[in-house]
Amino acid sequence: MNTTDTRHDLSIYIHIPFCERKCLYCDFLSFSAQSGQIDEYVRALSKEIELYGAEFSGFTVRSIFFGGGTPSFPDEKLICGLLEKIFDCFVVDDRCEISIEVNPASAMKEKLIAYKKAGFNRLSIGAQSMSDTELKRLGRLHSSRQFLETFENARSAGFNNINVDLMSAIPEQDIDSYRETLMKVITLKPEHISAYSLIVEEGTPFCDMELDLPSEEVDRKMYHETKKLLSEHGYFRYEISNYARRDGGAAHSFECYHNKVYWQRGNYLGLGLGAASMVNNVRWSNIRDMKTYIEALSRESKTGISKIRTDVQKLSVSEQMEEFMFLGLRLVRGVSTEEFKRLFGRSIFDVYGNVISKYQKMGLLELYGENVFLRLTDLGLDVSNTVMAEFLLG
Ligand code: SF4
Repeated sequence: MNTTDTRHDLSIYIHIPFCERKCLYCDFLSFSAQSGQIDEYVRALSKEIELYGAEFSGFTVRSIFFGGGTPSFPDEKLICGLLEKIFDCFVVDDRCEISIEVNPASAMKEKLIAYKKAGFNRLSIGAQSMSDTELKRLGRLHSSRQFLETFENARSAGFNNINVDLMSAIPEQDIDSYRETLMKVITLKPEHISAYSLIVEEGTPFCDMELDLPSEEVDRKMYHETKKLLSEHGYFRYEISNYARRDGGAAHSFECYHNKVYWQRGNYLGLGLGAASMVNNVRWSNIRDMKTYIEALSRESKTGISKIRTDVQKLSVSEQMEEFMFLGLRLVRGVSTEEFKRLFGRSIFDVYGNVISKYQKMGLLELYGENVFLRLTDLGLDVSNTVMAEFLLG
């Protein structure tokens, strides 16, 4: 991401809230579709794209991300039609990163071919585990064989930038089984791997079940194993849970541009049910009620957008500084002290001097590059939540 002048750069997130069936751990805004609902939703989303395209005519789109839910669940014609609509309504950079999340249970070969043809150039496959027992335990619909087929089909459809999502700390998972998953995925040489540990969220079926979860100690071991195995196999950790191959050096890294926009506080526009946006320090979210969303966007009115926006908030300078720190420190490169000064007109050491020196002494934070960059050390990344919490100014 270019950090020089990004005020007119834009990233677009498209939310597809439909899933064939809900996974047992999932707290994302997703559900099974009622009859006719997908078509109605896509029509409304298309209208939203059109209205925002007019509002953001001075912006250039640098990345697009279709997430969910399961974007590979609806008919591919609908999904590709939405991408085409974005091309029609926005100025899209020729090198735009265009990702789509797919579930191996629904990402059939012809769908992958259609996505590639429509302009998607990055695929994110939700594998989670290579053990069928663990996949069943999570309530996932796919099998490890289906994941392998999806991966192979994606390669033959021409995708040369593939992310694989993995999960650790799955109920009854042990370190050997997790290692086996990692090794099987590494063998495929995806360009990018996201590895998160399971969090049991309130309101999910998992929350009401008696689960035999790995201990905190085993969870930590899995986290360290991820780091170790992936770096031994050519993956560079660029964010706490994200790893990318760097073929031919840093210039050819497969780091995800879109996600870096979130961590570096670039402009992003979230379209679709419940999607979140932040543009030039104003945050808002779309409403989460499907009926109201569809109704607001089905008429020919230009006020549809204002009817679906909620929680509009102009961030104060303190809030911007806090976010700059705790989002930026998620990245292994850390934050730039010069960028802080340029954005806020104050030295980072005036604002955060005490916290910085406290954690420097503890070996959790370090300055590097002639004191231009501040980053968490390896140890600091392991306890990142504790350190980041101290950057709140309130
Ligand atoms: S496929 Fe993803 S979004 Fe859908 S229920 Fe499962 S975890 Fe949630």
